[in-house]
Order: sequence, then structure tokens, then C-alpha cells
Amino acid sequence: MYQEAINNYLQKQGFDEINLKAVLFDMDGVLFNSMPNHAEAWHKTMAKFGFTLSREEAYMHEGRTGAGTINIVSLRERGYEATEEEIKQIYQAKSELFNQYPLAERMPGALEVLIKIKEAGITPMVVTGSGQTSLLDRLNKNFPDIFKRELMVTAFDVKYGKPNPEPYLMALKKGGIQPNEAIVIENAPLGVQAGVAAGIFTIAVNTGPLPDDALLSQGANLLFHSMPDFNDNWKTLLEYLNKKNEGSHKKS
Ligand code: CA
Repeated sequence: MYQEAINNYLQKQGFDEINLKAVLFDMDGVLFNSMPNHAEAWHKTMAKFGFTLSREEAYMHEGRTGAGTINIVSLRERGYEATEEEIKQIYQAKSELFNQYPLAERMPGALEVLIKIKEAGITPMVVTGSGQTSLLDRLNKNFPDIFKRELMVTAFDVKYGKPNPEPYLMALKKGGIQPNEAIVIENAPLGVQAGVAAGIFTIAVNTGPLPDDALLSQGANLLFHSMPDFNDNWKTLLEYLNKKNEGSHKKS
């Protein structure tokens, strides 16, 4: 299964092999179990403003800007986009509600796999649309000695955000690496889209309520059902990723 996924990736992107130097981790729903709170806050806030946005639909929009999500629902239910004032009010209410919830816990399995990745001499990086100012402190507290500030991509680094490939292209640039020298770990359909569009081998970890196909249909090269599942399979996967493609005809 791994070999087939790798071969499909190489063929599609036109590379001879994967030469793994960095693993690019999305944050919400991958490193922290923060998505249930986001989905709850979206659902309740939209209801308060007279809109219907189920918790599950909130997972489909994960990674989209607040304005983008609000406008999709507004167009669907009213036939026209929300005004700037409405967007501001709704997004502020959603943020206030979210901030009342307790801080999300570290995702089980995340620290374990990060330690293995680092021990293998591979660089873990964070690529997130989040712009919380306390982000680095939180990451360092929950994942001590794992991430370097200069190798992080946050909301402050990008203009468009996911599903645009920009955040992952920025990570490649910061790391000084090529698309076939990294893999992406994502839990959301739009995040998978971004990783694939950046030309990087993209692994979906389905940590939420969406069907697997919501992630696979966006082009995910592999799928795991949880972070502990990814952690359990990491060693075997790494062996496959490090295998040199014997079928290729590289000039030496
Ligand atoms: Ca995410």
C-alpha cells in the first residue's frame, strides 16, 4: 500500500524519489485536539445570527477564512453575501465563544511521533493558518525541543492561506528544500488540497467526523485514522519513504 502510494505520487509530480528531510505538520486537529471547540463555536454562533451551520459542516470549512465560511452559508441561505459589518460581528462572536472554552489538549500520539521523527534526523515544521500570539509558547510547552521558530509558518507569514499552496511553498522556502524532500500531515480537506497543490506527498490523518473520502477526494496520498495510528505506522512508512526507487534511470 505504501509503495503504491509513493509510486503514484512520484509519477504524478515527476520526481524520481522522495528524499525526506522535513515533515510539515498542520496544527489544529493534528497537534492539538482543538477542532471540536472550533466546530461548536461556529455552530452556536451562526445559529445565533439566524444561520444553519452544522458542526460537521464546520469541519469541511476548516482552514478557510472566517469571511469565506460566513459567505458560503449566507449565499446558500439568503442568496447574497454577508456585509463587512455582519462578517465582523459574527467572526468576533465566534472568537469570543471559542476563547471561553478550555485550551485544547495535545493530540494523543503527536509528541511520540515527533520524537521519532527528530531522532531520525528529519526536521519537524509547523504550518498553520492560526495567528495566535501565544502559539510558539504553547508549542514549546507541549512539544519541548521539537520546533524552531524560524521554521514555522503561521497566519503572519502568508497572504492567501490554505487551500492555496502558499503556506506549504513558504515552508519549503524556509526549510531550503524541494517538494520531494518533505511530507505534509493534514486533517482537513482544504489543508490536503494545499499540500497536494504544493507538490508534496500529503498524508491525511482523519481525526474528525468527516468520511475518509472527504480527504482522499482532495488528493491525499495516504490516510491514517488517528495520530496514534500514524505514530504506530511511522517506522514502516519511513522505511518505504527512504527506499530508493529502483525503477528510475537516474544519471549518476
Ligand atoms: Ca487542521
